[in-house]
Order: sequence, then structure tokens, then C-alpha cells
Amino acid sequence: MNKLYPWQNESWQRWIGLRSRLPHAILLKGSQGIGKFDFAMNLAQSLLCEQTLADGLACQDCPSCHWFNQETHPDFRLLQPDSLSETESGEEHETGKKKPSRQISVDQVRALADFSNLSAYRGGYRVVLIHPAESMNTNAANALLKTLEEPSARMLIILVSHKPQQLLPTILSRCLTLAMPMPTLEASSAWLKQQGISNPAVMLAQAGFVPLQAAILAEAAGADEYNRFVLEIRQPAKFDVFALAEQLQKTEPAKVIHWLQQWCYDLSSAKFTGRVRYNSELTDLIINMSDKVSAFDLMRFQKELLVARREALHPLNPKLQFESILLSYRQMMVSGT
Ligand SMILES: [Zn+2]
Repeated sequence: MNKLYPWQNESWQRWIGLRSRLPHAILLKGSQGIGKFDFAMNLAQSLLCEQTLADGLACQDCPSCHWFNQETHPDFRLLQPDSLSETESGEEHETGKKKPSRQISVDQVRALADFSNLSAYRGGYRVVLIHPAESMNTNAANALLKTLEEPSARMLIILVSHKPQQLLPTILSRCLTLAMPMPTLEASSAWLKQQGISNPAVMLAQAGFVPLQAAILAEAAGADEYNRFVLEIRQPAKFDVFALAEQLQKTEPAKVIHWLQQWCYDLSSAKFTGRVRYNSELTDLIINMSDKVSAFDLMRFQKELLVARREALHPLNPKLQFESILLSYRQMMVSGT
């Protein structure tokens, strides 16, 4: 499981304070994209863990933690819409197949009745996590209400919601509510920087200042940027070195050099073994290109990239540096033809 996000430390302390007198149900509410679900998973795992650490987090080492991390813990149930479970496991949908539901169904909630009647497999707590709780349809919500009205001992139900106003008041009244904080701009930026995102302020603004959403946007933007870069360098005779250097100015120099290093790794691997590692979807093109470049030139350019990578830590003028390596690259690629 993830570590807590830095802005969740206070909430975690509140949770530790609750552990001696645990409620039957707890509601984690707050904006979307601030890590409520990850917090809830930490909370569930720590309650099931057989040797929690001093800070109250799960040990990641006991049998319970292993089962939890493999999603097979017999005393844990995660209720979420099929649409969420299936995107997470990366399954594709065949055309014509029924779309996965965006709701938590009454059957999913009814199955909890059996779960709550069993005693815990490991003799400790049983934990149910419902996420997002507002996706329960009316029947499901009513079924949950029954379970909440007759709580079983040593069972905790965690509801995660960014729209608690859509939950039944009778459900809300049976939950202890923990309001999850929105991180400050500084905390969000610092965390995004730690994730290797070079322009956190821009990404946060685009994502409505929600850090997890900003991280997803940054990743997508990065992929987009890389694709545009490759589109240029795969046509070495055509691309405009100066325009590309200009366009790359907003990108971290070390990142661009790393892209080129991987590209050249693929070129030399293609040349000598016929295989590529990083840009496998372009294998044929790269093999074709590698035929036209001399092994000596390729080695020399890779050395140049190594030097450039060291300089990129303190670039005096990134644009000049990009121009210089892109010119070398183009020369290497077109001189062989
Ligand atoms: Zn453990």
C-alpha cells in the first residue's frame, strides 16, 4: 500500500486516536483527487495488520499484509462499481459486451450480510470499504442501512465520498465523519515535484488544484510531449533543429537527453540484435534507420549524450544545448545515407 500523503498526517493522528474506541462505520469525505481512497486503504490494512508499526501504519510484512496487498484478504471487502474495478485491472471491453456498471448494486451490498455473519478468519477485525459511497443506488443504500442498523462486533465499514450530500441522512447519522483536508498549494507542489513533475504550478492550475488529478494530467502531457518529439526525430532529414530546440525549452533538459539516450539505445540494439527495448511499437522503423547509421557514429553520439546529461544538471542555456545535440544527431543520421 502507499504511504500516506504528506497532507494526511493530521487525519492519521485522528484515526489513531479512534482506534481504542472504534465506531461501526466511518465516513471519509472531501474533494475528489486528494487521496481519500488511498487513506482508506491504509486505514483498512492497518486494522487488519497483525503487527502494526509505531506510527500505526501496516507493517507490510505479516501474513495479513501479504494477503491484503494481493487483494485476497478474507476479512476485507472492497465494494466499488464494476467500472472502477475493471479499469484498474486494465481489462479491455469487447464491443457489444455490456458496459460495466457505474453503480454499486444491491447484490454487492447484500453479500455483506453473509460476510458480517461470519467470524473473522484471522480472529481480528473485518473491514468493508465502500468507494465511492454515493455510487450506491437507492436499493443498495437501503440494504446498507440495514447492515448499519444491526452492526456486528469487530467489523468496520469505511465509506469514501466526495458527494456526501447524496448519501441517505440515515446512513450519515450512523457514521463517524472524518473530513479529509485539501492540501495547500505548497504541499501539493512539493509532492508533485517529488513525483518528478517539473511544472507543478501549471499542472495544478489545469487540474483545479487537486494534486492526484494534476499528477495524472502531467503524465498524459509527458506522453504527449514524448510522442511529438519522436515524430520529429524519426525523420532526421526533415526536422527543423532550431524549431524543435525552441519547442523543447519548456521541457526539463535531463528528460530530453534521457529520451535521446533511450532512442539511441534502441538504434544500436536494433543494429546489432534486431530488437528494440524502449520504442517497441516502432521496431521496424528503428531497424530501418539503424541500417543507415554507422556503429562508430552512434557510439560517439552516445558519448556526447553522456556529457550533455552531466551538463544538463546545471544548464547555462538549455536551448543552445538542445540545438547542439540535435544538430549532432541529425548529422549522424543523414551522413550515412
Ligand atoms: Zn502487517
